[in-house]
Amino acid sequence: MRIGVLALQGAVAEHIRSITKAGAEGVPIKRIEQLETIDGLIIPGGESTTIGKLMRKYGFIDAIRQFSAKGKPLFGTCAGLIVLAKEIDNGEEAHLGLMDIKVARNAFGRQRESFETELAVKGIKEPVRAVFIRAPLIMEVGEGVDILSAFNDEIVTARQGALLAASYHPELTDDYRLHQYFVDMVKDAALSAK
Ligand code: GLN
Repeated sequence: MRIGVLALQGAVAEHIRSITKAGAEGVPIKRIEQLETIDGLIIPGGESTTIGKLMRKYGFIDAIRQFSAKGKPLFGTCAGLIVLAKEIDNGEEAHLGLMDIKVARNAFGRQRESFETELAVKGIKEPVRAVFIRAPLIMEVGEGVDILSAFNDEIVTARQGALLAASYHPELTDDYRLHQYFVDMVKDAALSAK
């Protein structure tokens, strides 16, 4: 399996390292043509407004919507989760608008700008290590969205079909089981496309 990491801004190298540990090939994606060569795509953390602007500039909004329409999986982490969402709480225009979730940016308060914790994630046996950095949270989910984990009663991991979203940075730890979970989603999607 070849899994791309959108490389316009943000934590790209760390995701590639985790994808490799999970037994797939990781490729930085800088041009829309490269989407043809991959089976799944990660949209990393960073700053969602900046990532959204660069995506518009380089044609990634339509290109990734088409990629997703073919059933190819997407995984958004932190800012990447905001980029996937249908609705952003502050009235900001949605970016990809693919996932039926409403999100709030920078939602964990100033005193908790950055912290690391263990999260129980549905579908993964033992708790996963997660780093939260000015993280968003999921305020509402639509039908068909499966909630995979919550932190202090706030939804922080969710899945809707071939779309996976996490508020935090799984790539900043040595724990690659969430990447493994995504690699499995990509394998399943590739099998059902045959
Ligand atoms: N606060 C950032 C945003 O709103 C996300 C932070 C992150 O990706 N670590 O886009």
